[in-house]
Amino acid sequence: MNMHWMSLVLRYFTFSFKKSEKWIKSLPPVRGRLVENEPLHKKNWFGVGGSAQVYFEPADVADLAGLLYKLRELPPIPMSTLGAGSNVLIRDGGIPGITVHLGKPFSQVVVQDDILICGASAGAMEVAREALKNKITGFEFLCGIPGSVGGAVRMNAGAYGCQIFDMLKTLTIVTREGEIRVLSADEIKDSFSYRKCVLPQEWIFVNAVFQGKQVKDATVIREKMEANKQKREKGQPIGVRTAGSTFKNPEGTPAWQLIEKVGMRGAKRGGAEVSKKHCNFLINSGSATAKDIEMLGEEIRRKVYEKEGIELEWEVKKMGVDKL
Ligand SMILES: Cc1cc2nc3c(=O)[nH]c(=O)nc-3n(C[C@H](O)[C@H](O)[C@H](O)COP(=O)(O)OP(=O)(O)OC[C@H]3O[C@@H](n4cnc5c(N)ncnc54)[C@H](O)[C@@H]3O)c2cc1C
Repeated sequence: MNMHWMSLVLRYFTFSFKKSEKWIKSLPPVRGRLVENEPLHKKNWFGVGGSAQVYFEPADVADLAGLLYKLRELPPIPMSTLGAGSNVLIRDGGIPGITVHLGKPFSQVVVQDDILICGASAGAMEVAREALKNKITGFEFLCGIPGSVGGAVRMNAGAYGCQIFDMLKTLTIVTREGEIRVLSADEIKDSFSYRKCVLPQEWIFVNAVFQGKQVKDATVIREKMEANKQKREKGQPIGVRTAGSTFKNPEGTPAWQLIEKVGMRGAKRGGAEVSKKHCNFLINSGSATAKDIEMLGEEIRRKVYEKEGIELEWEVKKMGVDKL
């Protein structure tokens, strides 16, 4: 189906879905926070986007699994998961259905010897800090990645030649039907590749256990983290509204080089800009809509394809629908 037809179908679906909001009234009671029309622009790094039709922050895993189990009795409702919002572009029409966000109850990091047991809403940087504190090496690359553990596993986040899947021992997920399962890294290894995880989109990751390596002296860990931090400060825009790298690096040439080559460094569309410092970063300069950012990204893709014959793939995940 081409883009035009896809967007028409999505619009039709949103319209008919909005009309039949009876399902919201039929949602079972929960112990966590379940609200309608929750604005999302403050919950993502671009600072754009509409509202979640229904927004759910479960009190714990049982609360989440319980709601999902009971949803089986209702007509299918779209479900999305939002982590720290550092790798998403939430469209201006918001997210139809239920958006699940794991909050504080899922933020614990427990260290046992060289193993870190992490709730999915714990920060990736927090994991790096805990590892340093406990003289565990292997997590230094996480120190500049602003996402949550759940989002990092879903994106197979990585940097400087490392990726999070390589540290994973087990992953606990809740299925669409409310079943809680613990999966070993070995049984899901084929689902992970460069910035990609093909485990079912509707699975919600609630906990990850990571295996590091204990060392006698934390100095090397600290030095690696400091070096990573300096590389970032030198090469990436800091303190701006961005979702990091917009496109995956195609084999052979880094995405930023292609973007530079087609003359898009510093290009603007509405309030959206291509960073001058790192041109694979798109920026909301203050007044951008999600549409501005998406259209600027599509312009880059078109130019790179026309001039270089390479199809750039979005690394940033687009969520929700356009404004009607
Ligand atoms: C300044 C900056 C620098 C960055 N640098 C890097 C980098 O070096 N390397 C890198 O890989 N990334 C980088 N990123 C991107 C981003 O930080 C990572 O992809 C991060 O792991 C995303 O986590 P999140 O919690 O923000 O996920 P979100 O952005 O909220 O979501 C991303 C995806 O994960 C899914 N998801 C979120 N939580 C869960 C969950 N609990 N269960 C299942 N699915 C879930 C969402 O549905 C969505 O599809 C950077 C971003 C910024 C803003």
